[in-house]
Amino acid sequence: MEPNARPVAVRRHLTGDRNQCPSCGEFFNSTAAFDAHRTGPFGGAHGEPSRRRCLTVVEMRAKGMALNRAGFWVKHPLPDAGIAARVHSRPNAPAALPSDA
Ligand SMILES: [Zn+2]
Repeated sequence: MEPNARPVAVRRHLTGDRNQCPSCGEFFNSTAAFDAHRTGPFGGAHGEPSRRRCLTVVEMRAKGMALNRAGFWVKHPLPDAGIAARVHSRPNAPAALPSDA
């Protein structure tokens, strides 16, 4: 591991709904998983600043989130058998998402 390596410097090929958080640099398998790792109140209603922040890795795991085999965070990890079945039958198709997202 390089001493100066930063998560935001990592480059991955993002397909479909996958994304990388610009704040913490973690990768997410879907917008829903990304949303799940943000917490705290939005600002604005009474002039206070936003206190939204990213969950830590420990907090994400405590919520039941997990890294999938590709290294992307998911909200609800599937059992290994389920992952194998999905990968086999639908190579790159997140469920119920528009293809132009
Ligand atoms: Zn983040």
